[in-house]
Amino acid sequence: MEEIYRELVKIVGERFVSNQPEERFLYSRDPGTMEPHAPDWVVMPNTTEEVQKIVRLANRQKIPLVPMGGGLVLSGLSRPLQGGMVLDMKRMNRILEVNEASSYVVVEAGASQGMLQAYLKKHHPRLKHSIPDAPPIATIGGNVLIHGSGHLSAAGGFHSEMLNGLEVVLPTGEVARIGSCSASPYWFSRSPLPDLAGLFLGWHGTTGVVTKLAIKLFPARPWNDVGIFVIEDPELAPDIIRRLARVQVAEDILAWMSPKPDWAKGFQMINIAYGAETKAELTLKRDLIRESVRPYLERKVGGFMPLPPDMKVRFLEAPQSTLAVFADVNKGGGFEYVGAIMPVELFAPAFRKGLEIAESRKVPYSLGARIVGLAHCMMFFYAYAFNRADQADVRRAQTALEDTNAMVLEMGGIPWKAETPAQKQIIKKMDPNTFALMNRLRAVLDPQGIMNPGNWEA
Ligand SMILES: Cc1cc2nc3c(=O)[nH]c(=O)nc-3n(C[C@H](O)[C@H](O)[C@H](O)COP(=O)(O)OP(=O)(O)OC[C@H]3O[C@@H](n4cnc5c(N)ncnc54)[C@H](O)[C@@H]3O)c2cc1C
Repeated sequence: MEEIYRELVKIVGERFVSNQPEERFLYSRDPGTMEPHAPDWVVMPNTTEEVQKIVRLANRQKIPLVPMGGGLVLSGLSRPLQGGMVLDMKRMNRILEVNEASSYVVVEAGASQGMLQAYLKKHHPRLKHSIPDAPPIATIGGNVLIHGSGHLSAAGGFHSEMLNGLEVVLPTGEVARIGSCSASPYWFSRSPLPDLAGLFLGWHGTTGVVTKLAIKLFPARPWNDVGIFVIEDPELAPDIIRRLARVQVAEDILAWMSPKPDWAKGFQMINIAYGAETKAELTLKRDLIRESVRPYLERKVGGFMPLPPDMKVRFLEAPQSTLAVFADVNKGGGFEYVGAIMPVELFAPAFRKGLEIAESRKVPYSLGARIVGLAHCMMFFYAYAFNRADQADVRRAQTALEDTNAMVLEMGGIPWKAETPAQKQIIKKMDPNTFALMNRLRAVLDPQGIMNPGNWEA
């Protein structure tokens, strides 16, 4: 153990490696409900070459290696289930290139959402990236690799769909480039080459360490507005959402259902955020949105909520802090959610069953759905708060999450960034040939089985 420590010190320097109980404690857990697993070492590389050296060391010694960004995924995916090294990527946070003409940015994988947001605001104020509602320290790499979604997902899909290319250190130590950057100085696209990005998306760090990536940028508009359409019958939601999405005006469509604040209880609120180059364009877009749901306005079964300007400002913020505030409902600051990727037509049963689980398990809840693409699918979230100082309360939330994962799979949805028990449930439902193919690919890429072991295993 001491020798490994000394080798790591040689690679990254003494300041950036630890085998001390404080760091081993901190890196053993994430903010969700999953039980802790301590690493033996925490190491923070600064360059791709350092990552290569660490990976080669892990390979030689058959030591588990777990890549980590912000560690905010909530479902415990960066806990080292079998010990070994946690590779904290936060020092690799450089913003390498912004291509204004082709609207993309190349970053190191540990660059945070907050850093990129601030950088673009300052140096390229007419461009923005799609921001998840995670705290700003969440990394671009960690979020894209788990198929995240955010404030431009109605316009641009999952964040993994906004990926143009990546650089990855394979589990055997070689560096590979994926996408146009493998054959060109430009990182403009994953087409037209065989799309190898899929070997690293959704794998929870089991197939390599991504060191750089390029993502698409979108116009940052000077005029921005948000409307909230309110209904009281979840059965109406799929058609309304489809209508709102198909006018192709919204950047973000986010439904939310929560017993707090009091005025929201019993309703389904659908936020529609959009931007424009001029005031006239903004007015036109607002009219198009209104027109799309006219039949519901005329039948008086839905309506736009009047929003005072200070409330609008809050609803236009990215990231939204509502979920972080919600975590404190139960004093003690914990929450975790099942994010279920599912078709929009399942909105009403997804909502009702979530409510049933939350009420029967007596957990504070917040439910909602981020619409992806032109209502091509949705990420339906079931967030449950708990007091992390009270183990019985944590266990209650955990049971509600387990019930929800099972319910989602039964309905035909798929839990996103699933905890390891939920991964096992997904594998049970999965076509066995698909799982066999996953295992074959993994064995080729990672012959020693060092990468985040315990994930995507039956
Ligand atoms: C309040 C709150 C709100 C949230 N809202 C959203 C939201 O709106 N949209 C959304 O998408 N998510 C949301 N999340 C979930 C999550 O925080 C984010 O998706 C976050 O961006 C994950 O990034 P991370 O850097 O924390 O990843 P981590 O948790 O560090 O890692 C996630 C996974 O990716 C792997 N990984 C990380 N970096 C690398 C790398 N360089 N190479 C290979 N594998 C790697 C890890 O091993 C792990 O399996 C929210 C979370 C919170 C706490």
